[in-house]
Amino acid sequence: MTNETLQPRFSTNKNWRKKPAAAVRVAEVKNLCRDRGVRFTHIRQQVLELLWESNQPSGAYELIASLERKKARPIAPPTVYRALDFLIEQGFACKIESRNAFVPCTHPESCNAHIFLICGDCKEWVELEDPRLEQQLADETTNAGFKPTRSVIEVLGTCATCMANGNSTRR
Ligand SMILES: [Zn+2]
Ligand SMILES: [Zn+2]
Repeated sequence: MTNETLQPRFSTNKNWRKKPAAAVRVAEVKNLCRDRGVRFTHIRQQVLELLWESNQPSGAYELIASLERKKARPIAPPTVYRALDFLIEQGFACKIESRNAFVPCTHPESCNAHIFLICGDCKEWVELEDPRLEQQLADETTNAGFKPTRSVIEVLGTCATCMANGNSTRR
C-alpha cells in the first residue's frame, strides 16, 4: 500500500466532527443540564473539562490526580466516581470498558448510541456521528424486544495517522 491510500482521515470524514474546545463543550452541557433540570455542579464540570482536555480516554485515577494538581489538595475518589456516574447517566460521557477509562460524548444533544473508534497505538479516539447508524441500532434493538439502558460501541484498531506512520496494529 502506498501512503496515498493512507492519508489521515481521522478528523476529516463527514461522520467525524473535529473535537471542539473543552470550554465550548462544557458550555453546551451546562445548557443541556439547565434544560433537563439537573445540577451541573463544579466537580461535575471539572471532571468533564478534564475528559475534554485529554486526547485519550482518561482513567479514574488519572482524573483524581489531575484534580488534585489543579486544586492543590487531596480529592476523595468517591467524589470523582459520583461525578463520572452523573456524566454517564446523562450521556455526557462514556466508559470505554476495554481501556477501563472514560471519554466525553461529542454530541450529547442528539446521541442515541455512542460509537467510538479507538486507536491501539496512539490511544486517540473519535466518536462517529451517524444518525442513521444510531437509529438503525435503536430500531434493531427494539425489534429484538430489548430495552437498552446504555449503548456504547467500541471499535478497536489503528487510526489513519498511525497507519501512515507505519505503526503496527497491536491487539
Ligand atoms: Zn455519544
Ligand atoms: Zn493512532
